[in-house]
Amino acid sequence: MAKQQILHCSFCGRNRDEVKILIAGQDGHICENCVEHAQEIIGQELANNPDSKNPASPAYKLTVKKPIEIKKFLDEYVIGQDDAKKILAVAVYNHYKRLNQKIENEVEIEKSNIIMVGETGTGKTLLAKSIARMLNVPFAIVDATVFTEAGYVGEDVESMLTRLLQACNYDVQAAEKGIVYIDEIDKIARKSDNPSITRDVSGEGVQQGLLKLLEGSEVLVPPQGGRKHPEQKLIKINTQNILFICGGAFNGMDRIIARRVNTNAIGFNVNKEMQEYQQNNLLQFVNSVDLKHFGLIPELLGRLPVVTYLNPLDATTLRSILTEPKNAIIKQFTRLFEIEGITLKFEPAVFDFMVEKALEYKLGARGLRSICESILTDAMYELPSQKLKLFEVTREYAERKFNTSKLSLLKVA
Ligand code: ADP
Repeated sequence: MAKQQILHCSFCGRNRDEVKILIAGQDGHICENCVEHAQEIIGQELANNPDSKNPASPAYKLTVKKPIEIKKFLDEYVIGQDDAKKILAVAVYNHYKRLNQKIENEVEIEKSNIIMVGETGTGKTLLAKSIARMLNVPFAIVDATVFTEAGYVGEDVESMLTRLLQACNYDVQAAEKGIVYIDEIDKIARKSDNPSITRDVSGEGVQQGLLKLLEGSEVLVPPQGGRKHPEQKLIKINTQNILFICGGAFNGMDRIIARRVNTNAIGFNVNKEMQEYQQNNLLQFVNSVDLKHFGLIPELLGRLPVVTYLNPLDATTLRSILTEPKNAIIKQFTRLFEIEGITLKFEPAVFDFMVEKALEYKLGARGLRSICESILTDAMYELPSQKLKLFEVTREYAERKFNTSKLSLLKVA
């Protein structure tokens, strides 16, 4: 009698009931454990052999422009925020100039990691992303709130670099010149200005952990992220040339700045209007002292020498964001209709309406897209089945569609 064959992993030999998943190949099977191991080995191989031909990895040829050109490039994608753009352009230019300097030179130029302060949705991530795009270097966005001090539940800070490695297909050489954007850095501020008595594992503990990444050292990175498992082979990365850009909303920062600067002295010699403007836009005066008061430790601030700010978005800026950037929302929707063979036109008053709603509902620039969607979804649903060549959106149409959408129910008091 033929013996019934029990399915098993052809790599480790485990039977079907000993594993969760068994994937069938032509003449064999593989279990989830072996797939994971295989992936680790591949990561390790590519890390040790950065020159190995890897068709999926783009050729990371660094292209550094002059600061004025960098700003011009940023202008194509980001509206306004001129101060931040200028400061970033110089910092990035210096950072990569430093990479190319000869070792024998006595003067060692330090890294110019950057910290950006500004309300959420004002373009911090967009700026960092655009810089990485321009330089053609690997780029990773990480959220500071998911990390904890080593040994506690949560991710170790080293796994930030895992994201960078993954972004360039484990090309270590490329990752070592990449950019990491750390979002929500304000959320790891310590609770009071004084060193804590109890252990603060998700705040000050993470800040401490970040120090060695930011200053530039050799770090062992788990290729799959998360905790460092003893069986996981770690990849060594030198962070010396990785540019870290941090961003955060730092709610309440204006009060800290107001306390520091004598508000009457600001704008001494300028007219009353200007004085008022400056008092309402205190963020432009932000510096490391304020960040320390907010709860970032001095050691961390020492490694983030470039401090800049972003302005809140006003109606004029929102209006420009809708139509002007290279991949502006309106341009994207127009293209979507164009692919369908339909010319999409807007009455200019529609844009004003969208901006009004974004401000009224406190949705910021991120909300512009949802507002646009809520107005155009019905058209995108119906038009592909009709033979229409031109679709014109009037303010009346936009108002009607918006008011009947789910979004209109979201108004905050
Ligand atoms: P933050 O990181 O400051 O919270 P983001 O950079 O993620 O904000 O911005 C969210 C979205 O809003 C972006 O993807 C972009 O579409 C839009 N946006 C925000 N600010 C600007 C700006 N200054 N210029 C162009 N688009 C912007």
